[in-house]
Parts: sequence; structure tokens; C-alpha cells
Amino acid sequence: MGRPGFGRRYGERPVRYSAAGLVSRGLTHRDWTPMWRRHDLKPRYDVVIIGGGVHGLAAAYYLAANHGISNVAVLDKGYIGGGGSGRNTAILRSNYLTPEGVRFYERSMELYRGLAADLNFNVMFARRGHLTLAHNDGSLRTMRWRAEVNKLQGVDSDVIGPDEIKRLVPYLDVSAQARYPILGALYHPPGGIIRHDAVVWGYARAAAAQGVHIHQDTEVTGIDTEGGTVRGVRTTKGDIATPVVLNATAGWSTLVAAMAGVRLPIQTFPLQAAVTEPVRPFLHAVIVSGTLHVYVSQTDRGELVFGASVDPFASYSTRGTLEFAEGLATHVIELMPALSKVRLLRQWSGLCDMTPDFSPVMGGTEVEGFYVDVGWGTYGFKAGPVSGRRMAELIHTGKTPDLIRPFSITRFYENRLVGEKAAAAVSH
Ligand SMILES: Cc1cc2nc3c(=O)[nH]c(=O)nc-3n(C[C@H](O)[C@H](O)[C@H](O)COP(=O)(O)OP(=O)(O)OC[C@H]3O[C@@H](n4cnc5c(N)ncnc54)[C@H](O)[C@@H]3O)c2cc1C
Repeated sequence: MGRPGFGRRYGERPVRYSAAGLVSRGLTHRDWTPMWRRHDLKPRYDVVIIGGGVHGLAAAYYLAANHGISNVAVLDKGYIGGGGSGRNTAILRSNYLTPEGVRFYERSMELYRGLAADLNFNVMFARRGHLTLAHNDGSLRTMRWRAEVNKLQGVDSDVIGPDEIKRLVPYLDVSAQARYPILGALYHPPGGIIRHDAVVWGYARAAAAQGVHIHQDTEVTGIDTEGGTVRGVRTTKGDIATPVVLNATAGWSTLVAAMAGVRLPIQTFPLQAAVTEPVRPFLHAVIVSGTLHVYVSQTDRGELVFGASVDPFASYSTRGTLEFAEGLATHVIELMPALSKVRLLRQWSGLCDMTPDFSPVMGGTEVEGFYVDVGWGTYGFKAGPVSGRRMAELIHTGKTPDLIRPFSITRFYENRLVGEKAAAAVSH
């Protein structure tokens, strides 16, 4: 595609956070400077990104910071982080099943490890260790397979037995009397959790400081194309001319793609999660059981965060259900009987854009200038940094980076699926 006339136009410098600044504001009660400013919608942007989640904001930041393209608008119909990015359980890991997947997610982990320093914003990444339990021989075989693929890609991951599991998580019932005895686990020490809001705000602040305009409460209602090329978008706040549109709308991605006449092999399902009242920290690792359809981690504040697989029916509903809470509680207590007296504080739900192979769809489409960064299902938060970076590179250079080439939409016509269901159906 022809490169638009990209030129760097900086915004304002972001406030640098420091201990001295914190003390000074505490003493003087001065307000903090807003992290980004409101702008009027311009009639033209070089790039329009639809979706103000981690993917859209990261792409905007890297477009400006790495490629000097700052005449960029991020449009969100609600507020930034209001989609999956503010609803997920914030688990980061790279112990996937396919070499393509492991390489890709590991690159994101590397970026996450340096993100607080890059953005000068504390994103609270906590390396905890990640355990995927195996309750039968079939699961154990898959864990061994994953461990070998992980090791070949340089990712720290191994299968451990019940004694080692008990040492890492003393409250777990590893006895032979358990209803679903634990035979072993895939242990991935670099896995952990992060503060998802901080990641979203950190990217938004850094992108705005580079001149990116963030427009909340601005819904895209149409995409104009002419002769198979993007010309602009229509929004509830007015029309914008642009040669490049990036669809980063996750659960809504098929609706937005349809506006450009592009069909995606994606269905939207709700995914629920829940959190308990805070209890004294006792659980340092993230625990996943595919057989019991449940995972558990503990936040720094002491709340236990629980999740499961997607709801069984495609839907755009974000309501919590009693069935979910009951099933979750039953399975958590089977794993850790000591939790039977802990009370659930709240439950919530978000939308997940599921592909048939549990891998994302990234790259260009048959409409010139219309890019997609979608299909993030239940596992896309951890991929925000690397996707943003590589999508920015693609938009700037017009060349698909090797790291994301396996995830192009053409894989569905060419029978090149990247099957990650065994590593992504319950572990997110
Ligand atoms: C309960 C739950 C737990 C999860 N746990 C994990 C986890 O532990 N680890 C992990 O890696 N992933 C997890 N995920 C998945 C992860 O949250 C998502 O894959 C990821 O956040 C997707 O980010 P995004 O930026 O692509 O989209 P989103 O954050 O969903 O942002 C899309 C945005 O697009 C906006 N939008 C939609 N339509 C329009 C329109 N027409 N015009 C303008 N704006 C529009 C929406 O308002 C929304 O803000 C979980 C998801 C859920 C729901």
C-alpha cells in the first residue's frame, strides 16, 4: 500500500513519577496532571484504531514511539479498558503448545518484563510461577508435549510430580483420595499476573504523550471503502478520512469487520470470572485445572481470582450466572478444600472473540488499508505488547513481520491452523 504522509508531531511530555514527587504531592495536595487530554475529532488522521483496549493502545503507542507516526486516533465506543482489557484475570505466560504460539507469546513476556521502565508507569508485574494440573494420563501426555516444545523455544517449563506441587502450593489436595487426583503438572516459573488497568493506562498515557488522540465515547458506525481501499470511518461524533484502519475490537470484531465488508472466522462468547473477599496471602502460584475447568490466583491485596472456560453459548451478554458461580465454587473446593468458608465478593463477565484454532488473527485483509488484530479469545491480554508492536511495524512498512505471519487470516483458506486449544481453553 502507499505509505501515508507520516510525520511525528509530539504531544505534551508525561509527568515523570518518582518517590519525591509522591511525597511532594502528598504534602501540598496538588492534583495529578491528567494522563491524557481530550481533543476535538480531526477530519483526517493517518491511522484510525478502533478499540481502546490493550491491543489498540499498544499499537498506537508503538506507531508513534517506534515509527514516528503520531497523527493517530484511538476510538472507543465506551471508555478505554472497558472491554476485555479491564475485565480479564491478568495472567501472563508463554507455555503454549505450538512453536509459533510459544515464540510469539514469549516475545510479549519479554516486553511485559520491561514495560514499567519503558512507560515509566508501575504495571505491577508479579512473577509467580504457573501450574497447569494433569488429572489423567491424557493431560499428562499433553503437558510433556508442551514442556518439550517450550524448552525447544527457550521457555522455562517442565513437568513436575505431586510432591513438588505440594511443596509449591501446600493447600492443594494432592492425595490419591481426591475426586480428580493430581498426577502431575506443567510448571512454568516465569508465568505471573499483572495489573491490567495499569497496563491500559500506561499505554494510553505514553501514546498521548507522543501526540496520539484518544477519543472515548466515540462509536464507529461505518467504514467507507472505495474500489477495495479504505477511505475513512463514520462515528457518532463525525466522519474521519483515513487511509488506514486497524480493527482491535476483540468481542465486537466481526461487527466492525463487516462494516468494511470483511468476514472473520470468529464467534463471540461470554467469559466469566469471580473474586473472593481478601484473605491472608497463601497462594503464590497461578493454578489451572483443565479437567475441572477452573483456575485460581491470589492478588497482592489477598483476593482470590477465579476463572473458567467460556460460557457454552455464543452471545453478547455480559451478565454473570448462578450456574457459573456454583460450578466454580464446587471445583475450587475440590482442589483446595480449605477454601470452603471463603466468600465470593463479586463476579463479572466479558466478551471473547473465539477462533476455531484458539489462535489470533493478525494482519492485512482483502480490503487495502483495513487491518485486523483480533481473535484474542480468552488469552489476548498477555499478547498486547507484542501485537501492538508488530501491527505498528506492519502498518508502517507494509510488510508482515515473521512473528505474526502464522496468524494471518489466509491460514483458514490454506489449512494452516495453529491449534492451541489444549493450551488455551481453560488456561488464559
Ligand atoms: C473474564 C476474562 C478473563 C480473561 N483472562 C485473561 C487472562 O488471564 N490472560 C489473558 O491474556 N487474557 C485474558 N482474557 C482475554 C483478554 O481480556 C482479551 O483477549 C483482551 O483484553 C483483548 O484486548 P483488546 O484490546 O483486543 O480488546 P478489548 O479490551 O475488548 O477492547 C476492545 C474495545 O473495542 C471497543 N469497541 C467495540 N466496538 C466498537 C465500535 N464500533 N467503535 C468503537 N469502539 C468499539 C470496546 O468498547 C472495547 O473497549 C480474559 C477475558 C475475560 C473476559
